[in-house]
Parts: sequence; C-alpha cells; structure tokens
Amino acid sequence: MTYKIYTLGCKVNEYESEVMKDILNNNGYYESSEPDICIINTCTVTNQADSKSRKLIRNVKKNYPSALIIAVGCMIQNKRETLEELDIDIALGNKDKSKIIDYIKEYKGKHIEQFYNIDQMEFEDMTLNNFDLTRAYIKIQDGCDNYCAYCIIPYVRGHVRCKKKDIVIKEATTLIKNGHKEIVLTGIHTGNYHDGEYDFANLLNDLTKVEGLERLRISSIEATELNDRVLEVIKNNKVLTNHMHIPLQAGSDTILNLMNRKYNTKEFKEKIKEIRTIRPQMSITTDVIVGFPGETPELFEETINTIKEIGFTKIHVFPYSKREGTKAATMKNQIDGNVKKERVKRLLQLSKELEKDYMKKYVNTKIEFIPEVYKDGYLIGHTENYLLIKAKGNEELLHNTVTIKTKEIDYPYLISEVLEKLTI
Ligand code: SF4
Repeated sequence: MTYKIYTLGCKVNEYESEVMKDILNNNGYYESSEPDICIINTCTVTNQADSKSRKLIRNVKKNYPSALIIAVGCMIQNKRETLEELDIDIALGNKDKSKIIDYIKEYKGKHIEQFYNIDQMEFEDMTLNNFDLTRAYIKIQDGCDNYCAYCIIPYVRGHVRCKKKDIVIKEATTLIKNGHKEIVLTGIHTGNYHDGEYDFANLLNDLTKVEGLERLRISSIEATELNDRVLEVIKNNKVLTNHMHIPLQAGSDTILNLMNRKYNTKEFKEKIKEIRTIRPQMSITTDVIVGFPGETPELFEETINTIKEIGFTKIHVFPYSKREGTKAATMKNQIDGNVKKERVKRLLQLSKELEKDYMKKYVNTKIEFIPEVYKDGYLIGHTENYLLIKAKGNEELLHNTVTIKTKEIDYPYLISEVLEKLTI
C-alpha cells in the first residue's frame, strides 16, 4: 500500500510525521504521489492554521477520492465537534500517532475516531533512527502548563511530559551514527524538560558529550528556563550553537502581564545580557504577537523600543489570533484587523533591518556551514549561528561541513564561495 503525509505547524509535528513515515516504511508501505492512504497532521495554533488544516483535508479528499483519509493532531483534538462535515475516515487527536498502523488495519469502511483525556496523557514514546533533513529533530517533551492567555496549546497538547533521558541520548547517538551532524531539540515547552530530578541542563550536558555531534541546537526556549545551570552548560560547550530562539511575545510590561507571561521586560533584557556575556556572538531570534487585546498605539511603541534595545537578529511576527477557550478570547479591547496588519508590516520591516545588520557583521569572513539543499548549482544551508548561506558548489558536498568565504548579502542569503570540504 502507498501513502502520503501532509504536515502543518511546528517542529514537533514535523518530528511526529517523520515517526509515522518511519513506521509505515518499516511495515512495507511506500511513500507515493498516488497514495492509497493520506495522512494530514494538523495545527490549531491560530484561526488561520485551523482553516488551512480544514482546507488541506478537503483538497486531499478531492485529489484522491478513493484514498483512506486520516487526520491527526492539534486541530482534530481542538475541533472534534466540527469534524463530521469533513468526513474523515480515521480521526486521531494528539495521541496514538505511533499506532497509525493499528488504526489502518482496524479500518473496515466505518469512521474511526480516538480521543483521550489530555489531562491524563502519558508521554507517547517515539524515536527516529534517521531524519529526512540534514538537521535531525528530536522531540524530547510534550505539553505545557503555562497557560499564556492567548495560547490554545495547553488545551490540545496537555500537561508537560517528557521522554526518558536514556532514550533521548540513545536516539541522538543513532542519528549521529547515521550521518546527521546537527541535532535540534524540540518540544512544546522544550526548556521544561525533566526526567525526575534530571533536568534540561543535565540533558544538554550529556548530549554535548555524544561522540560525532557537531552542533546541538535548541529549537525554542523560554527566557525563564535559561537558569544559571543551563547557561553554564552553554558557556562550556561549543557544540551548542550560537543561535537561540527566545520568545518575547511583547515588549510592554502591561501586555506581558495581560498575556500571563512569566517575566517582565527588565528580566528579559537582563537574561539576554547574561547570554551575551558568555556568548557575545549569540544570534537571538524571537516571536512577537501584535494586536493583543488592549495593545494601544503607545504600548505597541513600547514593544518596538524594547525590540530595538535588545537587538534581535530576526523576529517571527504573529497577528493576535482569538482562540476560543483561551483567557484572551473574552478580553475587552480586541484590536481591529487592519491595525494588526499595519503593526505586522512595521515589525517585519524592522526584523529585516535587524537581520541585515547582523548579516553585515559576517560579510568577508571565513566560516563553516552545512549545505541542506542543492538548487540550480547552488548549495544552500545554515551556519551554526543560523545565517542562511548560498554558495556555488558540487552536489557531493551536501550534508557535509564546508568552509566558505562570505562575499555579499543578497537577502535572505549571504552569498559565499566554497573554500574546502571539512568532513566526509
Ligand atoms: S509557553 Fe505559553 S505560548 Fe508556549 S506553548 Fe505554553 S502556553 Fe503556549
């Protein structure tokens, strides 16, 4: 039987789709453009993600009318009451993705759906020996207990639960043995990782000791989780990349408070200063939500000023999206859509300027990168501090560590020339 997987959303979803693919391949199924089975791994983080998920399910059904349609993940978990009109054959929420084969075998033409009480969900063990990308993701954790006022995730992913440390370390060792040079640690609330008393600092420290690992990247981490022990590990281990993604969400204390974020701007700025003291080259990217209820023009200006003061390398900008069931959805002073659009535009413009300023520091320098894609005679990939490189070169250099000389900015790329191949 053949299959095709469609993935929306975050790195955790990408990881889980890779796991489903691995399981299907190991059970004699083949990936194909003419699938007998279509799996859609959905997202519900914003209204837009919801409608994208629904639209994708409809399009897949139309394109492959005789295929078995399986829809899984956050939108399915969040909107189970509204699934009937989508007419899905098998609907799974946020558990049992690793049991996809059992559901396929169980299906006898009658609709199957499986949902669990998210408050009682155990961590669903999943591991990968290989990853389809140069940079291999490892899902180390699931769920979140922070309940930020705008966020639907705790309601669809459940409480914090983590993969056993020995399983994480074994998975990393296998991925490296199979040729991956970079590991990206991912989760819903990555920094909240723990296995009993063993916490994120312990895990980072042990992973940096895995032989053959060239780069260890943290996909995203809350400022509040960058405690002294984590910073000490970052200070002492160059394997940890000079790039961190630390969500700010807003640069005004009034809005941070309304969002139920766990820090204020002073604490956030102090944390960034600490990081730059131990790693002056650190590239720091972030997430910012604009148009949160109550965000007056003055409070938005505060966000702009805080961002400029911190000097991020890049900002992922999100217009506030009202999610039913969250605290913010019932707040007064909801912001007009056009105002949100205007603020998104301003922040994206600022982000581009900040990113170019950071790139300028690396023009005419000799650095390393790992090509991830080969296109039209060019190798494209990231440096450890997450600069996007484009260099003329030979396809055989893909997935290897390569030394380059950077020449000029052709946004979003740093155009470069290959000097030598470092690793086989
Ligand atoms: S920390 Fe906040 S924004 Fe992040 S997943 Fe948890 S509730 Fe959502």
